This record gives sequence, C-alpha cells and structure tokens, in this order.
Amino acid sequence: MRRYGSIVAVVSVIFAMTTFSRSADTKTSSQSKIQKRAFGTADGGLAVDLYVLRNKSGMEVSITNYGGAVVSLKVPDRAGKFADVVLGYDDAQGYVADKAYFGGIIGRYANRIAHGKFTLGGANYSVPKNDGENALHGGLKGFNKRVWTAKDVSKNGAQALELSYHSQDGEEGYPGNLTAKVVYTLTDNNELKIEYLASTDKDTVVNLTNHSYFNLAGQGSGDILSQRLTIHAQEFSPVDATLIPTAEPRSVRGTPFDFSQAETIGARINQDDQQLKFGHGYDHNWILNPNGEHKLSLAAEVYEPQSGRDLEVWTTEPGVQFYSGNFLDGTIHGKEGKVYGHRSGLCLETQHFPDSPNHPAFPSTVLKPGQTFHSTTVYKFSAR
Ligand code: BGC
Repeated sequence: MRRYGSIVAVVSVIFAMTTFSRSADTKTSSQSKIQKRAFGTADGGLAVDLYVLRNKSGMEVSITNYGGAVVSLKVPDRAGKFADVVLGYDDAQGYVADKAYFGGIIGRYANRIAHGKFTLGGANYSVPKNDGENALHGGLKGFNKRVWTAKDVSKNGAQALELSYHSQDGEEGYPGNLTAKVVYTLTDNNELKIEYLASTDKDTVVNLTNHSYFNLAGQGSGDILSQRLTIHAQEFSPVDATLIPTAEPRSVRGTPFDFSQAETIGARINQDDQQLKFGHGYDHNWILNPNGEHKLSLAAEVYEPQSGRDLEVWTTEPGVQFYSGNFLDGTIHGKEGKVYGHRSGLCLETQHFPDSPNHPAFPSTVLKPGQTFHSTTVYKFSAR
C-alpha cells in the first residue's frame, strides 16, 4: 500500500513537472516566466520546488508546492528598501517539521472544530483532535503538509501560480473527494492575490485560508507590538477557554478588541481581560460581514511606523482571525538563522468562522456536489 502510494506520488510529481514546464515553455517573454528551483524533499522523499514570482516594481514572492506555503515576500519601505516580511524556513525540511503553520494553505477546514465532531446530512463525522479537545487547521496532515501540483498560469504580464490538490474521501475524516485549487497572482500594484476554488462529490465542509505570519519591519526583527492595526469590524466572536466561539457575537466597542480605528497592537494586549487571557493575546475571529455577502472588501490594515510599510487585507470571506503570534516563544529558528520570539509575527487569516459546522447560525461552510467553492483574498503592500 505504502509502495503503491509512493509510485503514485512519483508519477504525480513527474506529471506536475511536465505540466509546469509545458505551460512555462509556451510563454514568449522570459519576463513572464515564473522561476523555479529545487527546495528539498517532502516526507517520503518527494522532491518539491520553490517558485519565485516577480513584478515590475521589484516585489518578489516565493511559494513552495509543499503545503502551498508563501516562503518569502519582499516589499519596499518608504525609502525603497526591500525586506522580507513573512516568517518561514530556508528549505522544505523546515516546513515538514513545522508546527506553527508558517505561510501554508490551511484546509480542509481552517481553524477549530469543537471536539473534532460535526453532523452533516444526518451523518456524524469525527476528525482528529490535534489541539487539546478540538480539531485544528485540517488535522494531523492538513493541506499545509501535502504536495501540491504547480502550474504557471501567468497572464497579461502578471505572474500567477496555480496549485492543485486532490483530497480523498475520508482524508483526515472529512467526507467527499475534494479538488482544491489555489491561484497566487502577483500584480504590478504590489498585491498578492489568492484565489481558492474547490469542488466535491459528496456534501462536505470547506474553510480555506493562508497562514502567513507578517512582520512589516522584516522577518526576525523583533515583535509586532508597535505595529498599528485596523480591522473593519464592529463585532468579534468571543471564545471559551479552548478557543471555540460561544454562540453570540460581541460588540468590540469599549473592549481591547476594538480596532475599528487604527491602534497599536501592543497597547491593550496585556489588559486584564478574560478573552485576552483565553487567547494568550489576540487569537479571535472578527466578524467582517455578518450577512455573508460575497464581495471583495477591505477587512484589515497593518502599518509599521519605522519603515512606513503598509498592508491592506481585502477578502470575500465573512471573517478574519487575527492571531498575534502568542505561541511563538523563541524556539523556532527560521530563515537566515533568524529566531522567532514571542509575538514576532501576526496572522490575518481570512476565513469562515471557527467551528461553523456546529453553529447553524454562522455563515455556512457546507459545500455540495455541483457547487464551486470560490473565495478571494488580496494582500496589498505599499509604503508611506
Ligand atoms: C490559531 C492559533 C494557533 C495558530 C497556529 C491560529 O490560526 O487560531 O490558536 O496557535 O493558528 O497554530
């Protein structure tokens, strides 16, 4: 069985490489070609690659087909000086060993499912509990630990990488064969656009996101507490001690969760507040769009005063998990030997709300045969 698995894996890598080079070869201008280099091996010995996307302004984004992780993201400050603003590892080995989900595609279900249990169409499903009593980020081997098939889909001068993954019926306990596609596009406006598509042959639940840890001062340069955050939301999802949302949304007004006007992340993070204690800092879902409207809207913004770098997050998703890197503790050694200390990166994970399969009142995460899951998030960089 294992052997069969590895033959299939080798064949799919050969297929992936052929698909990639065939597609890359059809390009006439060398500028429109995504550059590709070896990035090491996945568990099981499969070779994986690093794809380097560039735009006219010199912005550069590297993505590996191991877990679809954004490995580096180089953007200018107000003086035009580039820095890599995401946490990550130098090679595939780092991502194989990773437990912090650096930069990866999270699926089949991003964030938590209470007790690893849900009911769908009258059937009960159990998914592995990998976060105390709960299921987190797709299971023991989620989408961030899978090898994706890469294809250069650059067009109109914008470099774009399509990653596909076929998740089998029953994988990590989830029903239905799910075909997932994630398209990363780098525009000349310094935007990294991420489009997620999925279809299934059985009713299932889907919640896909990207788990990049940003530090606009540069990866490995200290904590993110002096960076200023805006979240365009009036409500957040309060959680219990295991970070599962309670039923009712709560107004951010008058709480340390009010980022409706730009506020320094560290200003209130250590306040005596039960929700901050449960999260060990910020680790909550903000409700962007209570009506579940599928429209690309500005969700959040981060500004780093020293460098002037700014990040806008646009999404069609109804929620965003702001995680302030509370579990980083200086034990991870990342790119270029940098050590990632407490709160040295922040995540803005655009998503449906945590534990939606157990909350009928939340926007639905159910995907049925014949439907196409489609979600878009744009990370837009500038400096001022
Ligand atoms: C979760 C955190 C978790 C982090 C890394 C976030 O999305 O909400 O609780 O520690 O991912 O696993």
